[in-house]
Amino acid sequence: KAKKSGRCQYRLFSQDLSIEADRWHSLSNDLHGACDRGEFVLYYQPQVAIGTSKVVGTEALLRWNHPKLGIVEPSLFIPLLEENGRMIEVGRWVLTEACHQNAEWQARGITGVRVAVNISAQQFYRGDIVSSVRTALEDTGLEARWLELELTESLTLEDSEATHRIMGELKALGVKLSLDDFGTGWSSLGYLRHFPLDGIKIDRSFVRDMLEDQNTAAIVQSVLDLARQLNLECIAEGVETEEQLAHLRDSHCQVMQGYLCRAAMPPEEAAAFLNEYFAQNQAA
Ligand code: C2E
Ligand code: MG
Ligand code: MG
Ligand code: MG
Repeated sequence: KAKKSGRCQYRLFSQDLSIEADRWHSLSNDLHGACDRGEFVLYYQPQVAIGTSKVVGTEALLRWNHPKLGIVEPSLFIPLLEENGRMIEVGRWVLTEACHQNAEWQARGITGVRVAVNISAQQFYRGDIVSSVRTALEDTGLEARWLELELTESLTLEDSEATHRIMGELKALGVKLSLDDFGTGWSSLGYLRHFPLDGIKIDRSFVRDMLEDQNTAAIVQSVLDLARQLNLECIAEGVETEEQLAHLRDSHCQVMQGYLCRAAMPPEEAAAFLNEYFAQNQAA
């Protein structure tokens, strides 16, 4: 019986795979020229200081507005873009668009809110990231201190001369550097030791499990203590419940990001959110 259901599963699985493969293939084709056709859009998710409830930043999250499928999540197309190096070009667009949006919001009175942009490994090592960032800042007039670059831990930053040089040059521009998805890779402590980081983002898998699992809770607490000692700002990702927020507050985590506040929003909605938030909380 087990064998039969096993075969069944196998058949189902392989069928799924071929559907997946077809979809993959057509998505990949559709991606050609998507940037030039203006099909990419940035959504923004608020980052809120836990102590004061002020919005301290927004993370720009890439979406693809597919002509037939509608909004497509980055996990479905970023790997396709990375496959043949096209993420570098899209990444440049993301940087410029995020800086432009932030500068525009500042001109409309939404000040003191930085913007965080995700940087892929490809962009970091092969995309001439320093000049891309410099150009984006110059073209949009955004002050560097309002831009934060999120480097994911899975980017496997090499402890190489190139990494140090690039990070040093980015810091010299005045942008902030943070380590995304902290705790999911193997080299976290080494990164903290060697790289000039300003912040870390505790991966949402830790936030998800910390109230149920004592080991996770202990790790989160230790990471927060460590971050404080190292003078790093700590952002908790994926905060979904009041209980999680209360726990993070008790543990002295500075900033939260997650559905509990808002999911990532299209630009107009994000602007409306920020305006309303400003009117209520931020004025002082
Ligand atoms: P990330 O940088 O870790 O971004 C956080 C992800 O968690 C986002 O998914 C966000 O929508 C989601 N999230 C936020 N709050 C919650 C929550 O409370 N619960 C849950 N379950 N999820 C939450 P998204 O937008 O699908 O992005 C996925 C990943 O794609 C990002 O992870 C980032 O690594 C990558 N990405 C997104 N935009 C860009 C980009 O412009 N460039 C690059 N290189 N990567 C990007
Ligand atoms: Mg991120
Ligand atoms: Mg993350
Ligand atoms: Mg993530």
